[in-house]
Amino acid sequence: MVGDIRLDGVVDGEGRFQPTKTFRGSTPEMWEQHRDLLDADGMLPFTMGAFLVRTGDRAVLVDSGLGDATVMGIAGGRMLENLAKLGLGAGDITDVLYTHLHTDHIGWSTVDGSPTFPNATHRCHANEWQHFMVDTKDVDEVYAGSVNAPRNAFHHLNAVLERFETFDSDGPLLPGIDVQAAPGHTPGSTVVIISSGTERAMLLGDAVHCPVQLLDAEWAALFDLDPVLARRTRNALAAELENSGTTVGFSHVPHLTPGRVISAEGRRRWVL
Ligand SMILES: [Zn+2]
Ligand SMILES: [Zn+2]
Repeated sequence: MVGDIRLDGVVDGEGRFQPTKTFRGSTPEMWEQHRDLLDADGMLPFTMGAFLVRTGDRAVLVDSGLGDATVMGIAGGRMLENLAKLGLGAGDITDVLYTHLHTDHIGWSTVDGSPTFPNATHRCHANEWQHFMVDTKDVDEVYAGSVNAPRNAFHHLNAVLERFETFDSDGPLLPGIDVQAAPGHTPGSTVVIISSGTERAMLLGDAVHCPVQLLDAEWAALFDLDPVLARRTRNALAAELENSGTTVGFSHVPHLTPGRVISAEGRRRWVL
């Protein structure tokens, strides 16, 4: 719970990666300092899915998962059954808010040419729409080795175009939900801020792919279209979040379990 607002991860699929292969330039010694971020076998967990935010009478999905596809060796497909376990059917979703339009964040929006969430209004930042739907009509080059994943945002969003809106400024978007531009990973990447009473959570989308990137500014980026801007955005977010008490999630956080960034004795740590 974030005050009166309920926040849940909705897993679509999970996998794990070799950490030193994932972060180029990282060494086993560097990972030894972050052993608590790896699983028992020393692998880096990586989750696909979405977050569900229940605020007032709204049920808001932040992103729509990977869908019936395999990307980077991770198979999606479980999101709707996990949504049902949280007590909701696809028709109960009132809003889908996209952190950005990469394939693994828009996968369930359209299934067999129909909207999966027939009652939802869909939204993303205007710069994201411009990049993926207008300028490039896009071949999403970020994720290599995809199976059964149309690497084209238009394919995933074609059935929801009439229910799509864009926003172009920071601030309140839905009750208890603000948006904040976080460009770099993609031009219109957006951070979602959930607040109720004195409590606050931030969903960082793909501004961060692994908790280690919030702890040490020098770790290499993954998959960012503008790596320099992405790093600046990420480091500003990390500084803002450190010891703020804010609950932090991002789209691929292991098992979609949010954490916090705390620091002591000059060192940041990720705590659940
Ligand atoms: Zn992405
Ligand atoms: Zn992603």
